[in-house]
Amino acid sequence: DALGPTICAGEILVEIMATSVGEGFSAPVEMIGPYPSGAPAIFIDQCARVGGSAAMIGAVGRDDFGRVTLDRLAADGVDISAVAVDPDHPTGTAFVRYRPDGDRDFVYNITRSAAARFGWTDAVEALAARAGHLHVMGSALVMAGAAEVIEAAARLVKARGGTLSLDPNLRKELAYGADTERRFAEIVAMTDLLLPSGDELQRASGVEGRDAALARLFAMGVREVALKQGRAGATVHRPDLPPVHAEAFAVDEIDPTGAGDCFGGAYVTCRRLGLSVEDALTYANAAGARNVTMRGPMEGAGTRADLDRFIAATPRRAP
Ligand code: ATP
Ligand code: MG
Repeated sequence: DALGPTICAGEILVEIMATSVGEGFSAPVEMIGPYPSGAPAIFIDQCARVGGSAAMIGAVGRDDFGRVTLDRLAADGVDISAVAVDPDHPTGTAFVRYRPDGDRDFVYNITRSAAARFGWTDAVEALAARAGHLHVMGSALVMAGAAEVIEAAARLVKARGGTLSLDPNLRKELAYGADTERRFAEIVAMTDLLLPSGDELQRASGVEGRDAALARLFAMGVREVALKQGRAGATVHRPDLPPVHAEAFAVDEIDPTGAGDCFGGAYVTCRRLGLSVEDALTYANAAGARNVTMRGPMEGAGTRADLDRFIAATPRRAP
């Protein structure tokens, strides 16, 4: 990553989770937290942990939730010089409870918290001007302020020869307006590496069917698509080359939150450090799998040494 750090802009949260499985929060339940969270924050933390140069853009409140999260990012090696501390709004929160079927119920405070209230500052400009890669989380594009920062950073990074990756990361709980859809389409058109899961491939391309969707994305200039498939592993598609598939590692899933973000952080960083698609995919699958073995959205983000040990010790799931 000689051109400069990987940067990511978006929501920084703490997660507080129910310790029992059940339906939502309609009666008192025991909870545990705060755990540092927010898809962009999990992604960038994994980038730094695996050995990349990484920096975050966003905001927290001037409170313990903010301190816990910034201390964690800084301790893991993330440059937090472009994270604002908002004196007037609290750090964003996500309360989560798992249902018996593995689905999740959330109570979010994001759009009215510090998490969504950041803009283009001198610190952000200075960082974006020396960045080599921008990773965009689709979840951040729903916040108008964040979307403007992301669009401006994307133009700067691309203008200096940097690259862009996109995790569509669309959530069923959140509504997407016409503005968000337009911004999303603009980012897709600038994307070098797409990291979709499930039906996000169709969403990003606007085309039904895997092969047609890939062809459309490659025609738009996307050079690599890393398709995340949960327990079925992941597959990387490139124009004019056979796909590269790797089965997932066989682990006991304790907490699935953050798997996709850790996968992305490891994949982007390993590719930027010059690893092959095959090797980057191994690390990315390991990062996703290791993270689901620990409670807390970014608690399982591993260093390169952690992942090497994990890879050596963990069998692959049968196809
Ligand atoms: P998220 O639920 O965080 O949004 P996602 O849907 O973007 O995640 P997934 O496909 O669920 O992405 O997970 C990313 C990667 O993590 C998978 O491709 C796989 O390698 C690994 N992974 C996720 N869940 C498991 C699991 N239960 N066992 C093994 N590996 C897993
Ligand atoms: Mg998933």
